[in-house]
Amino acid sequence: MSINFTEKCKELGISPSITRKRIYEYLEISKNHPTVDEIYQDLIGDLPTLSKTTVYNVLSLFLEHDLVEAINTSNNEKRYEIADHPHSHFTCRICNTIYDVPRVSTTYDSNQIPGFTIENEQVNLIGICPSCMKK
Ligand SMILES: [Zn+2]
Ligand SMILES: [Zn+2]
Repeated sequence: MSINFTEKCKELGISPSITRKRIYEYLEISKNHPTVDEIYQDLIGDLPTLSKTTVYNVLSLFLEHDLVEAINTSNNEKRYEIADHPHSHFTCRICNTIYDVPRVSTTYDSNQIPGFTIENEQVNLIGICPSCMKK
């Protein structure tokens, strides 16, 4: 496992509660960009007191501290992942799988859109994945 969550929390000055730790570890393992619902469904067995609101609040806290990234998908549902490597996403419109793909630099120059400050650039590619192409 990568960097110790408890250490990270110490650095950030947040308390490493069991719930936070489990959600973080869950995101570290899952590579499928889960939604709040999916995280809740998968963890409720282990954390019987968990609620969707708690999951949502923990994710908001993680977002605030740049521990996770939120991905906006085409169907307006937010998905989450650990913010550890910059990459882009490819969403297959047939099987709805979200793939991590290398980030190709398309860097915007602020001069191209005067008056706007860019804080984050997300590239979402949509199309058909190799396994659906084969069908
Ligand atoms: Zn597909
Ligand atoms: Zn990703």
